[in-house]
Parts: sequence; C-alpha cells; structure tokens
Amino acid sequence: MADIKIPVVRNILQANDRLAAENRRKFEQAGIYVINLMSSPGAGKTSLLERTIEALAGRVRIAVIEGDIQSSYDAERIQSKGVQAVQINTDGGCHLDGNMIQIALESLDLAAVDFLIIENVGNLVCPAEFNLGEHDKVMILSVTEGDDKPLKYPLMFQTSSVLLVNKIDLLPYTNCDVSKIRERARQLNGNQQVFEISCRTGEGFDAWLGWIESKLSENGKLGAGKSPR
Ligand code: MG
Ligand code: ZN
Repeated sequence: MADIKIPVVRNILQANDRLAAENRRKFEQAGIYVINLMSSPGAGKTSLLERTIEALAGRVRIAVIEGDIQSSYDAERIQSKGVQAVQINTDGGCHLDGNMIQIALESLDLAAVDFLIIENVGNLVCPAEFNLGEHDKVMILSVTEGDDKPLKYPLMFQTSSVLLVNKIDLLPYTNCDVSKIRERARQLNGNQQVFEISCRTGEGFDAWLGWIESKLSENGKLGAGKSPR
C-alpha cells in the first residue's frame, strides 16, 4: 500500500508548488514582500500581527490573509487596524495551500500593498509542507507549549527563517526551558533567527521588528529617506 500512497502525496505537493510559483510571480510583479506565519492554535499569531501592524503603521502598506477553519473573527480584528484583510475559511482543512491564496489575492488591491502577511491555520504539521509563494516562513512557539516541540515537529523548524518564542512573560509559570528550544531548533536549522518575545507586554519586539524592517528594506519597501521608528 505504501508505494501507492506516496506518489499521490508527491503529486499533490508538486501541483501545489506550481500554484505557489504562480503566486510568487504575482508578488514579484507587484513588488510585495510576503511572509507565511505558522504556529499551533493559540500561540499568538493574530496578537503578533496586531502589534506588528501598529508598529509599522504609516511607513509600509500592509495586507493580511487570514486562514482559519471557521469564522471571520481574526480578519475583523485585523481590519479594525486599518489594513486590507481577507479571510479564508478552510471549512475543516488544516492548512492553507497555493490555490486558496490565488483565490484570496483576487480580493486584494495588490498595487496598494508593500507587505503581505499570510496567517496560516493553527497547526504545527502540514502548513510547513505547503508553499504558498511566500519569501519567508515565520513560526511562533509559545513557552506554554513546552520545549519538546522541535523534537516532535521538525519540518516546521527546518523550513522557517524565523522562530518567535512567544509569551516569555509566562515563563515563571511553566517548566519550559528556552535554552532547550534554542538548542533543539539550532540542530534542525542553523540559519534560523530566534527572537524571544511577549505579544502581551511588547518585550523583545524591537529585535523582531528590526528583522522585518531589514527584509522590507532589502526589498525596497522602506525607503532610505524614511526615518526609523
Ligand atoms: Mg489567529
Ligand atoms: Zn493540513
């Protein structure tokens, strides 16, 4: 059975990669820098977006694609920040794919976007397998989830350019050892940038914003003439 199943999975991923490549061409044509934000449910993706949008407001034009199994609650939270937002409901599906992004892009005015953030469905497994056409994958792991997650979900750590260790304000109430997260993540991906943050208090946010700003500058989205925060 195994030799029947594996080619099917491979075909699905190949078809997805073609759509992701089409999305990427659209992003390049419109001059948009794109990240794919992934985490388990409740790790703080939408809270991270809210704080990041507030910090960059007025300096870069942001749009958000919100992926959720159901509801438009997160897209409403984001829209209230004054940025373009589209909700994708996967109706039970546990990840976003290239086709869903292609359809969502029809609802955005791409000419008015510099920075697109795609918030994936809360899940540490298959979102890492499906490219969406993004430039960078960014993952969040909250300290309440435990320091064993790199051992259990290696692909997510291997494919993400950035690991945000969130909720560090809660460290005194957990058994989580951040040095173990760092060491285990480093063994999987030596190029990954790790930032310890709290979306609640704002601790550590400057380092994360510094990374985003350097990416936007590289892509010509933050002009040299614009003053820093
Ligand atoms: Mg969310
Ligand atoms: Zn899935």
